[in-house]
Amino acid sequence: MRDSGLSELVRLGANESAFGPSPKAVEVMAAALPHLWWYGDPESYELREALAAKHDCSIEQIVVGSGIDDLMGLAVRAFVPPGGRALTTAGSYPTFNYHVTGYGGALSFAPYRDDGTVDLDALVEIARRERPQVLYLANPDNPSGSFAARARVQAFYEALPHDTLLFLDEAYGDFVDPGDILPAHLEDRLVRTRTFSKAYGMAGARIGYAISSERNVQTFQKIRLHYGVNRNAQVGALASLADPAFHASVVRETAVAREAYYALGTELGVPTLPSLTNFVLFDCGSVARANRVMAELLKRGVWIRKPAVAPLDRYVRVSAGTAPMRAAFAQALRDVLAQVPV
Ligand SMILES: *Cc1c(COP(=O)(O)O)cnc(C)c1O
Repeated sequence: MRDSGLSELVRLGANESAFGPSPKAVEVMAAALPHLWWYGDPESYELREALAAKHDCSIEQIVVGSGIDDLMGLAVRAFVPPGGRALTTAGSYPTFNYHVTGYGGALSFAPYRDDGTVDLDALVEIARRERPQVLYLANPDNPSGSFAARARVQAFYEALPHDTLLFLDEAYGDFVDPGDILPAHLEDRLVRTRTFSKAYGMAGARIGYAISSERNVQTFQKIRLHYGVNRNAQVGALASLADPAFHASVVRETAVAREAYYALGTELGVPTLPSLTNFVLFDCGSVARANRVMAELLKRGVWIRKPAVAPLDRYVRVSAGTAPMRAAFAQALRDVLAQVPV
């Protein structure tokens, strides 16, 4: 907003949920607000209990953090020693990399495939050669939106060296058919993460969790900040879990938004990539044009972002919006594409 000089933006740049949090969560958080002088429960006990029921595991297999970004830091601190190595996809979600660098580890990268999907074979090959302590995989992936289904992830996991821990970031797991997600594997070399930031619409509350073996969870419990999770976020997350109808409606609305974007891309000659997330990539044909499109949209009050690394850097990334947000975006995009030559 400071850059554009506008006092309001159509927010389609951070994959937040335009559909907001559950009204029930808002209600309990508002009621809990006067208790902000209390610390939160350092164990997140009730929330972990509800999450354990949801994922059919025990509360000793769940750790709550202030978002996946926080849990990534714990995993890196616990498992990548200074001078150690981690492996990821070049251009995928970057926060993991910041932690690796910050804690003194080295990074190896596999490129995306030419079609913009994550190259699981290349990751296995590099992992076998370089023996990273941790491999980071977002599935579904951000920013590509691509997804590897259950059997593929299972085979990938089994093909990895047995001393490499797989950090499986399922930030967008809520948008995928549960039958397509890897079933619960609670092993020492697998850490999976989920968040309340996306489908639950609570990005600003900062709360997420990891599921892993009891041993790994104990390790995280030793090194995490004991009052690092916001008390209101704990209350809101618990209420969100108790409102599955709202969650289902967000997942449905998000699918409607994706379909609308696919149709818009076809109509305007900016083809889209299939996505199993709450965002869609539009192919602007070149990096220069994608940058122009993003800048021109901002001037018109529409905030989006774009991937930085090839082959996805000629795309712009647009989060799922409500119908009015989509209409504002469509109008601005039509206008901008007419002005920015291919
Ligand atoms: C949005 C996003 C996150 C951030 O999750 P928080 O719980 O808000 O920290 C993590 N991973 C991926 C792939 C994301 O897109």
